[in-house]
Amino acid sequence: THFGYETVTEAEKQQRVAGVFSSVAESYDRMNDFMSLGIHRLWKDHFVSSLNPGATNPPGRPQRILDVAGGTGDIAFRMLQRAHEYNANRNVHVTISDINPSMLAVGRQRSLKLPASHQSSLSFLEANAEVLPPAIQDNSLDLYTVAFGIRNFSNIPAALREAHRVLKPGGVFACLEFSKVDKYPIFNAIYKQWSFSAIPLIGQLVAADRDSYQYLVESIERFPSQENFRDMIKEAGFDVAGKGYEDLTGGIAAIHRGIKP
Ligand code: SAM
Repeated sequence: THFGYETVTEAEKQQRVAGVFSSVAESYDRMNDFMSLGIHRLWKDHFVSSLNPGATNPPGRPQRILDVAGGTGDIAFRMLQRAHEYNANRNVHVTISDINPSMLAVGRQRSLKLPASHQSSLSFLEANAEVLPPAIQDNSLDLYTVAFGIRNFSNIPAALREAHRVLKPGGVFACLEFSKVDKYPIFNAIYKQWSFSAIPLIGQLVAADRDSYQYLVESIERFPSQENFRDMIKEAGFDVAGKGYEDLTGGIAAIHRGIKP
């Protein structure tokens, strides 16, 4: 299979994404380190510390967080660490949801190494972000996070509308995703070279799976610019502050935030 730029139906895209993540689940964490030279860890640390889960006024108030496309748990585990330890707030609960049972299984396995108090504040949910199940009620969440997930969704506007529906008024939508480096042409050229030649090759050598990593690179290319994605977030009914996003490493990744009015 080669995942080119041809138009595909939503169902076909969902199938492909399912195939990619089932085949990369086991190697996923190792591959992230290789492909990003470890930088994804710094982006995730920054994403979580800037959201600062568990910092409530007054202190210690409960917070319900949904980490969508949570995969193997990188964001959820960091949020529990931040909330429970740094902010000493054990009333923070995080649900990891993902459409792919193989990714969730790896996350569940990894979570067994967490402190017992973190484990008891964590749940797992198999769910499509575009149609969240009734278990996630309207106006029920304080924070919705999605990291390196949304570009894989077949219908991004539908997922944004779902995020808006399940958040409480005042609740925060936060997205960490690959983005555009257009502001820095030379850096962009180097980055493109790295992603289009090195990443599929690393995928082949380390995970014996060139096609899946080729797909990942192409999905980054197709994802909208910082400004266009911000406008989609507004379109779904969120308020955004300032320009609405923060570039990380020159725009290789970006954080977008919206608040439900
Ligand atoms: N958030 C994790 C992280 O930062 O390491 C995992 C990101 S992983 C690149 C993308 C995840 O999105 C995969 O686990 C995949 O199964 C999930 N995914 C793709 N389409 C989805 C959908 N429609 N609904 C929910 N999850 C989806």
